[in-house]
Amino acid sequence: MDNDCLFCRIAAGEIPAAVVHETDTTLAFRDIDPKAPVHVLVIPKAHHPDVAAIATADPKAAADLLAAVAAVAEAEGLLADGYRLIFNSGVNGGQEVFHVHAHVVGGKPLGPMVA
Ligand code: IMP
Repeated sequence: MDNDCLFCRIAAGEIPAAVVHETDTTLAFRDIDPKAPVHVLVIPKAHHPDVAAIATADPKAAADLLAAVAAVAEAEGLLADGYRLIFNSGVNGGQEVFHVHAHVVGGKPLGPMVA
């Protein structure tokens, strides 16, 4: 755990969050500033800075993260109409919290992807 990492502290229960799904290795909670009717962040409990880092360091943790995304999408009722899955990566990708997280966004038509 990185004590300076916001999402490590949420995973440790030190900072409250609206948790919607949890496994031994992952946690999912509602984004504090939602951009759509459903906006859930899915994180590994272990600290990895971004998606490339987790894929390299611990492929099982990366697979667990995607399985948790699928469980959240189903639980939030997103499978029928679809949703968007986003990993902002690095400064140019708009990443602000450097603990890898999947944004699960849906609940309305999102239109085409824009950069
Ligand atoms: P990023 O830009 O991909 O790093 O996304 C970080 C996300 O974390 C943003 O959508 C923020 O709204 C969200 N966020 C920041 N602090 C908190 C928090 O304490 N709880 C839940 N979401 C948060």
